[in-house]
Amino acid sequence: MGDGAPLIEVKGLKVHFHTEDGVARAVDGVDFTIAPERTLGVVGESGCGKSVTARAVMGLIEPPGRIEQGEILLHLRDKVVDICRLDPRGREIRDIRGSEIAMIFQEPMTSLNPVFRIGDQIVEAILLHGGMGRSQAHERAIELLDAVGIPMPRQRFESFPHQLSGGMRQRAMIAMAMSCNPRLLIADEPTTALDVTIQAQVIDLMNALRRDFNTAIMFITHDLGVIAGMADDVVVMYSGKIVESAPVREIFHNPKHPYTQGLMNSIPSLAVWGARRLKAIDGVVPSPFAHQQGCRFAPRCSHAMEVCRARSPELLEAAPGHSAACFLHQAAP
Ligand code: SF4
Repeated sequence: MGDGAPLIEVKGLKVHFHTEDGVARAVDGVDFTIAPERTLGVVGESGCGKSVTARAVMGLIEPPGRIEQGEILLHLRDKVVDICRLDPRGREIRDIRGSEIAMIFQEPMTSLNPVFRIGDQIVEAILLHGGMGRSQAHERAIELLDAVGIPMPRQRFESFPHQLSGGMRQRAMIAMAMSCNPRLLIADEPTTALDVTIQAQVIDLMNALRRDFNTAIMFITHDLGVIAGMADDVVVMYSGKIVESAPVREIFHNPKHPYTQGLMNSIPSLAVWGARRLKAIDGVVPSPFAHQQGCRFAPRCSHAMEVCRARSPELLEAAPGHSAACFLHQAAP
């Protein structure tokens, strides 16, 4: 994916949660790369491990969660850091968060404090990472509010979060995330709670930010349709694993994994334009506590064969740059 050196390389990542009820294998062997200034869409139903993967990249896995295995290599200008080896509360990861990697969430109030003015919160984020005095940071905060499309940014600087609409709060959270010009912005379902029009505006905004700030984006969503207009590359996650990985056009024109095909059939707009029948995928994602043999999608797959229940398919290249973990695209084992 991408041409030059990577920004993030995730290799063999496993994140498990050790609870009284057993071990939940939330992320169970995941590999992907994010190149500078590219957008990676991470797609799958809830419970497939997307958000836990994102939190691992931010160095935010806390007990009972544990990184069991793997590496998350962040390529800085002068060195490579393995985020899995850093203390989640230590100085080094705190410096990386914000200055190199920032995250936005579905619910802006996760990041915004209800009792402080929007502008002050952005100023504090800028000051935290140094390099500017307070009055300079104040002007920079107004510039950022303007850059994310908040009208009358000087007046809006004074607003409290509850005085803004949901879409404006989302923009303010994006402004705060962009305040230190991170090289990677992780967006975890940022448009899910918004209506379709505002959703489209936020996606346009993120595309513009990527262009203007040269930021790479890891965009997490359960809705494959959302990333059609913004991702360069896509990984599809199911039950803690990547089941398909390809450039975005390939995913939409030639989806190979039955799960990806099921996600495609459940996108309302594509069903309308393609005159296809809108159809949800039968069944549910297996519990991360369940230790199922064979392909984890087999109970929901209309193509399941005997081999699928006995062996787990590996993620292998099915076409140049396009990988799928499915025996339909692999020589019989
Ligand atoms: Fe379906 Fe078998 Fe492919 Fe799994 S490996 S997705 S069960 S055909």
